[in-house]
Amino acid sequence: LLYNEVQDLKGAIRVYCRVRPFLPGQSNGQSTVDYIGENGDMMIINPLKHGKDARRVFSFDKVFGTTVTQEQIYADTQPLIRSVLDGYNVCIFAYGQTGSGKTYTMSGPDLTTEETWGVNYRALGDLFHISKERSDSIKYEVFVQMIEIYNEQVRDLLVSDGSNRRYPLSNIRNNSQMNGINVPDAFLVPVTCTQDVLDLMRIGQKNRAVGATALNERSSRSHSVLTVHVRGRELVSNSILRGCLHLVDLAGSERVDKSEAVGERLKEAQHINRSLSALGDVISALAQKSPHIPYRNSKLTQVLQDSLGGHAKTLMFVHINPELNAFGETISTLKFAERVS
Ligand code: ADP
Ligand code: MG
Repeated sequence: LLYNEVQDLKGAIRVYCRVRPFLPGQSNGQSTVDYIGENGDMMIINPLKHGKDARRVFSFDKVFGTTVTQEQIYADTQPLIRSVLDGYNVCIFAYGQTGSGKTYTMSGPDLTTEETWGVNYRALGDLFHISKERSDSIKYEVFVQMIEIYNEQVRDLLVSDGSNRRYPLSNIRNNSQMNGINVPDAFLVPVTCTQDVLDLMRIGQKNRAVGATALNERSSRSHSVLTVHVRGRELVSNSILRGCLHLVDLAGSERVDKSEAVGERLKEAQHINRSLSALGDVISALAQKSPHIPYRNSKLTQVLQDSLGGHAKTLMFVHINPELNAFGETISTLKFAERVS
């Protein structure tokens, strides 16, 4: 990666939009996405309107259509991943309504098929690969943490005995002395190869299901954060560099009908709304170079504070479900994306 390219990415917030295909068994109906341009433009069509009023253009850094592969998505993510080994902090988010493809982008449809692996495994594989290439000059160590934020409580997903002794993890720090380890009570596990990571993901997924009525239900209402800490020692100078990568699969952004949601469901919905708006507020304040960045308003932005803004780089993938009945959510997703870009 060229030095100029790194400088270019630094501090910048990039927004990529990905449109998922119609799923097998779904009527291959009309799509709300009318047109995707080469330069990050897309046109959305309102099924309830006609003529010029029905169309609206949105612009992002890139827009990926329904035929874009996991490999192509990763190719446009890779420069950010590589910069973690040069000592940068990077956050990658997946945003969108439930069923729009967030987990597909980050993890992939399943762990067994390498071809459809998402950004997470490709990124870690790449980090191992590059650190090996550089091993003559720098000795790298890689550690991962995996947490879930549910109803503004932080839970460790890497507890191997299923116990939750320290739940919720309330010790969150933002202190450069901690080297980006902002949730010091969550397990910090050393990894040396992709297989190590896959094993940890299985533990994480199992833990995520605990206490949920159905796996999908829970995963759509919590944020999951996979953090990769990299520490490199330059062999000649003995100096240390540190970088960290946060891979965040956000809770579903869909609005819950307030007249229908009650009890736990309403509480969850309120927590999700609040934390996603807090994230949007932080990113848009950073994009506008505002002097005050409101990190304190949610657990998610507290945990990620050192990796949002300043020296850090942010990539937001916003996901679109092209079905007509998702039109309302599609527009609100695109408006969120517009606000942070
Ligand atoms: P979310 O995490 O946003 O709730 P998922 O990633 O679980 O959504 O995707 C919902 C469904 O759509 C899954 O069956 C997934 O495999 C499928 N899917 C999502 N994105 C794609 C894609 N780009 N190509 C093929 N299938 C996809
Ligand atoms: Mg998901």
